[in-house]
Amino acid sequence: MTPSPPAEPLDLKSLLPDELRALVSRLGQDEYRAGQILSWIHGKGVEDIDQMSNLSRAFREQLKEVAGVSRLREVERQGSPGGQAIKFLFELPTLERVESVLIIDGKRRTACLSSQVGCALDCKFCATGRMGFLRNLSAAQIIDQLLQLSRVLLAERGERVTNVVMMGMGEPLHNYEEVVRALRLMRLEHGPAIGGRKVTVSTAGHVPGIQRLAREELNLGLAISLNATTDELRDQLMPINRKYQIAELLEAAAEYFELRGRRVTFEYVLLAGVNDHDEDALRLADLTRAVPCKLNLIPYNELAEDTPFRRPPAERVARFRELLETHTPMAVTLRESRGRDIDAACGQLYQAQERQPRPARTALPAPAG
Ligand code: SAH
Repeated sequence: MTPSPPAEPLDLKSLLPDELRALVSRLGQDEYRAGQILSWIHGKGVEDIDQMSNLSRAFREQLKEVAGVSRLREVERQGSPGGQAIKFLFELPTLERVESVLIIDGKRRTACLSSQVGCALDCKFCATGRMGFLRNLSAAQIIDQLLQLSRVLLAERGERVTNVVMMGMGEPLHNYEEVVRALRLMRLEHGPAIGGRKVTVSTAGHVPGIQRLAREELNLGLAISLNATTDELRDQLMPINRKYQIAELLEAAAEYFELRGRRVTFEYVLLAGVNDHDEDALRLADLTRAVPCKLNLIPYNELAEDTPFRRPPAERVARFRELLETHTPMAVTLRESRGRDIDAACGQLYQAQERQPRPARTALPAPAG
């Protein structure tokens, strides 16, 4: 019988270069081997240590004793009829599922990645919010979404992913350590080499997380989902506002610009009759006047299930945009999200979870009580 592996083998896919160098030298190897391993995992997408052919057989054996390389299992892939979006469904070893979306738009190839299974924030209009919070993804599971999407894009269209947005399932700043680790890995030259200006983290407004991100030497794009112009309404739509109110959020956004020199993007999901009035447009212009920013309007994507929220009619969207544009010096964009036809657009990612592991062969008696 082979000895059972350690309970939680070290996942090489999560390790940063200095950590990998430390591991390599602990195993008595030259540090440059770390670069080779990084290239195998993040550049060539190899998970089988035995395939890392420029490492000696003895070293590969040593490595396998202490570590492994994880991979999410792709369980479904769905392309939108127009070919503008591909939705991927991945399964974790714990059997929970997350979604990622590849968006084809002009010259951009954007990977929209998940940071959590479900989300704790309970934003009333968001599909993922309805799942509740199930689990944080590891850095390996976050970057693996990108690696797998990249592989498919390269194989099927001969193209590379150009941009990453942390706008899939979850609140990235609630899983700060793992998200930042994944963002550090994706900018390495050994791998996808996507960093800085090409990466956007989107947050529902976790102020301490924004403050912390502003102090990282990563120069990421930051998007803040504002979605309301009064605390009264925002409290209702996005319960996180009860903790971090609009004024505080705007201050954090201004600080992000001061420290990083990058304008934040305020996202504003337009909900018919809720936050799409003329006064909302004027207040939005006023509120954001003092913060160097961009304003991104997103007409609501209606969810498959019944919710009270509706997308405003096109004329209302146009009027809102026009009013906003005439009252703000900031750039205003309107995002028609791709992938609506396959429920892969902003805020539509939802996965019913099969949470119980498959039944064991001999069922245990149910606990009494
Ligand atoms: N938790 C992060 C990232 C995930 S949501 C955040 O809140 O920013 C990504 C964006 O989709 C957010 O701007 C959110 O407001 C928006 N969104 C959520 N549900 C939506 C829906 N049904 N239609 C359009 N946008 C939606």
